[in-house]
Amino acid sequence: MIKLTDVEKVYRTSTIETMALSKVNIVINKGEFVSIMGPSGCGKSTLLNIMGLLDEPSSGKIEIDNTLISGYADKRLAHMRNQKLGFIFQSYHLINDLSVVDNVEIPLLYRKGVSGSERRKKALEALEKVGLNSRTKHYPNQLSGGQRQRVAIARAIVGNPEIILADEPTGNLDSVMGEEIMNIMLQLNKTEGTTIVMVTHDENMANKTERVIRFFDGRQVN
Ligand code: ADP
Ligand code: ADP
Repeated sequence: MIKLTDVEKVYRTSTIETMALSKVNIVINKGEFVSIMGPSGCGKSTLLNIMGLLDEPSSGKIEIDNTLISGYADKRLAHMRNQKLGFIFQSYHLINDLSVVDNVEIPLLYRKGVSGSERRKKALEALEKVGLNSRTKHYPNQLSGGQRQRVAIARAIVGNPEIILADEPTGNLDSVMGEEIMNIMLQLNKTEGTTIVMVTHDENMANKTERVIRFFDGRQVN
């Protein structure tokens, strides 16, 4: 589903050169739930941004669904992101002056041929999957952190992505809410077969996934 071959990422400024990732080789299979762990600064976000086609590697190959992505123009990348990928962030990234259901509809605005009523229907279905059907007209600042993250998950799944990339999705939540979010992701993985890659600092969360990939200083260590 996701294949990285000899991926490297170097950040260059006029004075400093940082090797954020060196020769990373990873294969993530369809339907896997994988976590990525490692100390701060080891390259986890860089890796997730590259897998999510948000950032380009300095060298190496990325394949998604057996399609070589390297060299894609921005427009094709954006299309690929919108069709195949869903994103979840530590700090939710909801739009505060849109209601819950309007936030969830956002990814569908970029899809051709989806009518307003169809968007609404799919958004309400996604909210039902995360157990938030009683909060559809609320605004993000009227919700708890765990509820906000559930809205963000609904937004990530509304377009039926094959892959979900989650950057510390439970990082801002207490352990009870963190468990709740983790259970929703486990359920999604099991019932819909969605491939999930999750960056986390939390060993307990990582242990619930099928495989842990560990990084240190830009290199994979297991
Ligand atoms: P993690 O997510 O594991 O904390 P990151 O992927 O954010 O690590 O960063 C990996 C390394 O790359 C760090 O040393 C960081 O300082 C560096 N880095 C990240 N983004 C940039 C950037 N935009 N410019 C320069 N260096 C960066
Ligand atoms: P934080 O640790 O500050 O909460 P997030 O988990 O929110 O960070 O974001 C993780 C990474 O994703 C960051 O590198 C950020 O720049 C990037 N990012 C966040 N929101 C978006 C977005 N809507 N589109 C593209 N990239 C984003």
